[in-house]
Amino acid sequence: MSYQLLKEDVVFYQRFLKSAGFYTDKLDGSWGPNTDKADTAFLAEGSSIAEELGKFDARSESNIITLFPKAQTEARRFLNLCKNAGKDVRIISGTRTYAEQDVLYAQGRTANGPIVSHARGGQSNHNFGIAWDIGIFNNGTYSTNDSEYIALAKIILPQINTLEWGGNWHSLKDNPHYQLKAVSEDVAIIRGLFEKGEVFV
Ligand SMILES: [Zn+2]
Repeated sequence: MSYQLLKEDVVFYQRFLKSAGFYTDKLDGSWGPNTDKADTAFLAEGSSIAEELGKFDARSESNIITLFPKAQTEARRFLNLCKNAGKDVRIISGTRTYAEQDVLYAQGRTANGPIVSHARGGQSNHNFGIAWDIGIFNNGTYSTNDSEYIALAKIILPQINTLEWGGNWHSLKDNPHYQLKAVSEDVAIIRGLFEKGEVFV
């Protein structure tokens, strides 16, 4: 998804800004001066993180900007470690609004294409600003080889202890998935806090 889409779903974006500590006003879905101020502060924080930790390819950048600043910091540290390890890694997915998640969920069910997600809107960690998926590229070609993703996780995880990796999940392993460790591993609890604009990472 894009920062623009995030911004268009005002209630969603207010929850996001409030949970991330930029907004303290009502979650009313109307874009007033306080939402505007929070948006400006959020973007400024993102720019200063990029300045400090470096910028990456356009696709990664468009996804990083949809993450909480805490997650932006870790995502940039992550990409730096990949670069130092000689790997071409890009962030191919970041935050999704509930509406976007519902579209993804419909794929392979009520819409055409293969099933790509088991989570409806509000049921994925991608809905709360803390998760991203990576792609490993070899000479520009996207890799679907699980062993490459597992090998990369073994390099990165010991160096960033704030991360949870989808490859460690018991039910449905998700090797390209990383997210910040939150106050709970229960998505329903995170969802409740996010929707109230409370802190969960
Ligand atoms: Zn994911």
